[in-house]
Amino acid sequence: MEAKLKELKTRLHEINDLNAAAAVLGWDQSTYMPPGGAPARARQMATLSRLAHEQFTDPAIGRLLDALRPYEESRPYDDDDASLIRVTRRDYERLTRVPAGFMAEFQTHTALSYQAWTEARPRNDFKAVEPMLEKSLDLSRRLADYFPGYDHIADPLIAFADYGMKTADVRRVFDELRQQLVPLVKTITAQPPADDSCLRQPYPEPMQWQFGEEVIRRFGYDFQRGRQDKTHHPFATKFSIGDVRITTRFQENYLAEGMFSTMHEAGHAMYEQGVNPAYEGLPLASGTSAGVHESQSRLWENLVGRSRGFWEYFYPRLQQVFPDQLGQTALDTFYPAVNKVEPSLIRTDADEVTYNLHVMLRFGLELDMLEGRLAVRDLPDAWQAGYRADLGVAAPDNRDGVLQDVHWFAGTIGGSFQGYTLGNILGAQFFEQAVTAHPSIPDEIRQGEFGTLHTWLKTNIYQPGRKFTANELVERVTGGPLRIEPYIRYLTAKYGQLYRLA
Ligand code: ZN
Repeated sequence: MEAKLKELKTRLHEINDLNAAAAVLGWDQSTYMPPGGAPARARQMATLSRLAHEQFTDPAIGRLLDALRPYEESRPYDDDDASLIRVTRRDYERLTRVPAGFMAEFQTHTALSYQAWTEARPRNDFKAVEPMLEKSLDLSRRLADYFPGYDHIADPLIAFADYGMKTADVRRVFDELRQQLVPLVKTITAQPPADDSCLRQPYPEPMQWQFGEEVIRRFGYDFQRGRQDKTHHPFATKFSIGDVRITTRFQENYLAEGMFSTMHEAGHAMYEQGVNPAYEGLPLASGTSAGVHESQSRLWENLVGRSRGFWEYFYPRLQQVFPDQLGQTALDTFYPAVNKVEPSLIRTDADEVTYNLHVMLRFGLELDMLEGRLAVRDLPDAWQAGYRADLGVAAPDNRDGVLQDVHWFAGTIGGSFQGYTLGNILGAQFFEQAVTAHPSIPDEIRQGEFGTLHTWLKTNIYQPGRKFTANELVERVTGGPLRIEPYIRYLTAKYGQLYRLA
């Protein structure tokens, strides 16, 4: 058994090395690569991914997993080796169910579809991508059908990102949340919007960079095991537990973009930096689901970074960095500005209250298409109708409507959006639990101290990596299932005070 486990780990380490090398190439492509490198880089990354996929779906892995089953079952559920075997088996079964030929067809299609989208969006040309989307929908359905026995056709697609969550669970949680959110948004937007003009002034990029790094260093992002670079669409990426990088972007005339994007990506990266080092190079060594990952980025970005306490400490510092822009602006003006609620067209620019309405709308449209109740050609109209009904806004064109997000044009239709809202819900649930365990946390944040919170997150959320599913993790950490109440309590308290709601 020891020898078999050793062989499994050796193989998994090699597969990890291929994937990590592909990730380095991907990071370079998004940061420093000259345009001329694009064709070769796409091929190089595809080669590494193919080799990793071939090695992982090698029947020898299946035989090792079978041979190790008695060993796994003889050990406690949360034992490291038992968990490694269990999680590797889940990955193996998922990847071996999908024929290589289908995967190749899917990847070729998504590469073409992505390319078509990058050209169609600036031209506002939905017709150009309509046949692409129809094929994506067909491929998404076929992919789901490799996992028969589902309750809903979106279940297998959701399982890729948020394993353990089913369509019915997500729909129930979203329906409950919508009932609470829609009236809250209505009440807030019946009032005059917060004045955020203080954020919309010239803010030189080097100082934005400096302030952002100062904040995330204080959060606990480890620059000995990470670095920050510039990109078009910010992301975090991991090559090993000792090298987790983030990227950011700045607008020189809008302070919030770079500042909060830096905090957001640092939240993702701190999760990956905090995984138990003993899992290095193995399938346990990463965040457990899209929802839990997003809970960690949103926790630092919003629950900490947009809190009054955080700015009581950091606003004087920010005023020092930008004396001309903010020297005469009071905290009582700045704090509402960074928490301005306003129904808008673009998901990624949305405030934390209306954001979820953008996500739920997309989730609903995905289900409608997968269930055959909505045809791709009718998607732009359904999109517009949804925005008018839920947010009271209408996009002037498809560019800022149905063409705004890359997801449906670079992957499956279904399974790609629910994690954002699950993350908002879970972030509040975890944060509330941390404060229950350590009531000093809010006062510490007010003093620019994040050690107690970061240590709690490391111990409870980061360290287990993928050992537990999202549902298991929530149960272990909070003593119950995912619940929207902490999130509603958080929003109601914060925006009730900001907008003086009854
Ligand atoms: Zn994120």
